Amino acid sequence: MRDVSFETKVVHQSQKNKNNFTSKASPIHQTSSFSFKDLDELEGYFEGETPYLYSRYGNPNTDELGAAVAALEGTESGAASSSGMSAILAGILAVVKNGDHIVACDDLYGGTYHLLDEELKNFGINVSFVSFANEEEVREAIQPNTKLLYTESITNPFLRVEDISGLVQLGQEFNLFTMVDNTFATPYLMQPCREGIDLVVHSATKYLGGHSDVSAGVIVGKENLIQAAKQKIVSLGGNLSPFEAWLTCRGVKTLALRMEKQSRNAQAVAVMLKQNENISKVYYPEGVSERGNGAIVTIELSQQCNIRTFFASLGWIKIVPSLGGVETTVSYPYGTSHRNLPAEAQEKLGINERVVRLSIGIENEQDIVEQFFQAIEKSC
Ligand SMILES: *Cc1c(COP(=O)(O)O)cnc(C)c1O
Repeated sequence: MRDVSFETKVVHQSQKNKNNFTSKASPIHQTSSFSFKDLDELEGYFEGETPYLYSRYGNPNTDELGAAVAALEGTESGAASSSGMSAILAGILAVVKNGDHIVACDDLYGGTYHLLDEELKNFGINVSFVSFANEEEVREAIQPNTKLLYTESITNPFLRVEDISGLVQLGQEFNLFTMVDNTFATPYLMQPCREGIDLVVHSATKYLGGHSDVSAGVIVGKENLIQAAKQKIVSLGGNLSPFEAWLTCRGVKTLALRMEKQSRNAQAVAVMLKQNENISKVYYPEGVSERGNGAIVTIELSQQCNIRTFFASLGWIKIVPSLGGVETTVSYPYGTSHRNLPAEAQEKLGINERVVRLSIGIENEQDIVEQFFQAIEKSC
């Protein structure tokens, strides 16, 4: 056969070494599409013999992430997506359509609140927001066209722990789907699918990734529901990039180590702050799991403290409007995540200018406690 010219070689040479080396880490399939040697093989994709055609429809790295989280959550199937928000939208659209109604918890993550309150209206889907702390309120909000109950396993920023089994019972009684955002708890602390929740979503941007270097989402549940959610991800273009899926899978490997250490550190910080007279409120849940109570602590500084001085006196602890990384960070709900809520809603939830949310990291426990203590000393 004729030796091909330089222009052809330069394109094809690097592809020659496709191989089956048994690399210890998963290879990254950083590809938009897959190739076929003949029409039989192409036909094989549509017959279900080979799994991949085009990365928006599916990719080994994104599938690895979906399957890993499904296994950790103790359920059948999972799909990864470009962000927590796209996973939430895909999950909702998998079970709800034009003309249906959703009953949602009233202290949801701000982005989710906006999606449900504003965007879904344009799809003809209406949402009632009620306090899920009160089962009567939830029951009263259920209408004949209600299809879904939606909440978070641990809420933001006041860390109310949802009664998952109560929610499952209510869903069964009224024949409704149930969906839970398990971002704050992670499957290390809570596994809502095991208790009968239909769909669990994650912002993998937070603890699953764990290193603040990816935006990603995951949705898990029974096979038929995940197939439906995956179809939405495909149609809406909400697929995750292979590299980000790969990074998130790498993060997931250390989830247990991180959550164990971060929960222990958070417990120590909560104990210290509860004893401090300059802190008027400490929100830190109890009894979440025998493994711990999570790594978020929310506090309210006393009236005499200067909030600006507090934020400016935190040394190596940075102000970051997110959570779940290995570094200890602080965020300001009043100035960021809950900024656009009406004043009455802020007041009802307990958001004011003295509330600070702490995302506790993996550093030395005493160093973290000491750094917060110094900031309090300077500002109060
Ligand atoms: C961050 C977050 C989201 C949104 O996730 P993105 O990855 O930013 O799209 C949803 N729910 C909770 C509880 C979150 O903390």
